[in-house]
Amino acid sequence: MNTSKPKIVVLGAGYAGLTTTKRLMQKLHPEEAEIILVNKHNYHYESTWLHEVAAGTINPNQARVMISDIVNPNRVRLIYDSVVEVKKEEQRVVLENNEITYDYLVFALGFESNDFGIKGMDEHAFAIEDIDSSRLISEHMEYQFAKYKMDENADDDSLHIMVGGAGFTGIELLGELVEKVPELCKKFDIDRSKVRIISVEAAPSILPMFDKDLVDYARKSLEDRGVEFRIGTPISECTPEGFIVGDDKELIKAGTVVWTGGVKGSSVLEKSGFELTKGKVNVDADLRLPGEENIFVLGDCSWVWDKEADRPYGPTAQLATQEADVAANNVKALLTNRPLENFVFKSKGTVASLGVTDGIGTVFDDYKLRGKSAAAMKKVVDNRSLFLVGGAKLVLKKGKIRPF
Ligand code: FAD
Ligand code: NAD
Repeated sequence: MNTSKPKIVVLGAGYAGLTTTKRLMQKLHPEEAEIILVNKHNYHYESTWLHEVAAGTINPNQARVMISDIVNPNRVRLIYDSVVEVKKEEQRVVLENNEITYDYLVFALGFESNDFGIKGMDEHAFAIEDIDSSRLISEHMEYQFAKYKMDENADDDSLHIMVGGAGFTGIELLGELVEKVPELCKKFDIDRSKVRIISVEAAPSILPMFDKDLVDYARKSLEDRGVEFRIGTPISECTPEGFIVGDDKELIKAGTVVWTGGVKGSSVLEKSGFELTKGKVNVDADLRLPGEENIFVLGDCSWVWDKEADRPYGPTAQLATQEADVAANNVKALLTNRPLENFVFKSKGTVASLGVTDGIGTVFDDYKLRGKSAAAMKKVVDNRSLFLVGGAKLVLKKGKIRPF
């Protein structure tokens, strides 16, 4: 490859990094720049499907796709390695097994679970962060059920499943669990009434971003299918046995404990000495790292200010994907000495699944959905995401196209 060409290095093949790479391939002639995509694994995964992998309601392979199947390796240099640190003064990225230099950098390493320093959370609770950590949760639940059957003295607590945090991820996980648990009970000949599914939430309500009628609907739907809610109950510690909650330090026991209490940007941001606000970078309106001419920070690694609401946009896949379009335009603008554009988010709405056939959502400027219509919309969103990643062929191969 001609090394005299400017080098564009994209870190992360999630929604933001992969979309930026694809747009750069479309916008730039091969002679204009060399494009390098770095990702920990040789596959991209749909982060928005990870709760299904965690519950075991889909196979992990359905949620991932080989990067070389969707990005032409003859056009983009693909490096499968872990990013350790960005040394911006030297325009260099340190990888676990190598290092690379760049002229333009797109930092899109996504999210990590945020334990907010809660004692024992990192050691004793599972978290949904990627394919491997999510698969571990479903494997652990199966193991607990299998072990229970083998051990005459086994405690019923070992069958219980507890989810800390009832935001989007926690609620979507509960929606999958209420479908998976009866399946596991059947598989292991265990009475369904022995298995508790417990949700512990500090705030006075689940899913505070939705209107009360939708929240009430979601709560009732999950309760009717066996979820026990402990709302207004802050978790102060996680032990090998379960969560410690509330002022009286009550221990709630469970054999499978999952923390879905929030996310932060990749820890590589901090290792690289970037200035952080609540675990992420506050980027300029053109998505650049403040004070840096040639570094863009996208997706769950950055906060972008929503002027209308006077707060940052919530981190979502649709935000990450839209940012990628602007980042690719702006890299091209830098290469061709044209002015950069500012990012403007166009929300298409929000849908939360409550299992395969249920959900809630707000779309098209406040039109509310609940039940099957919300579940169907969620599948449209999931399939659209696959389409953007790998076209109709990928939707036919891995899409959610079975009727329900
Ligand atoms: P990611 O998708 O996290 O991608 C980051 C990439 O970087 C990954 O490929 C990762 O392997 C790679 N990487 C990470 N660290 C390193 C490293 N050190 N070195 C090399 N590579 C690395 N949003 C919605 O809009 N709608 C939804 O329905 C929705 N559902 C969700 C469901 C769940 C269970 C979760 C957890 C999130 C959901 N979100 C949803 C939020 C959405 O998934 C994120 O906002 C989105 O993934 C952010 O995209 P990203 O490109 O910034 O990062
Ligand atoms: P979140 O911040 O949305 O929810 C975390 C929840 O945990 C909150 O309700 C919080 O009150 C609770 N919590 C925090 N500390 C606690 C404690 N000590 N004890 C008990 N409860 C505690 O985080 P998330 O659900 O991980 O979602 C992360 C991001 O991903 C969100 O911004 C969301 O927009 C996005 N997401 C979107 C979708 C979707 O659009 N369908 C699905 C999943 C995630």
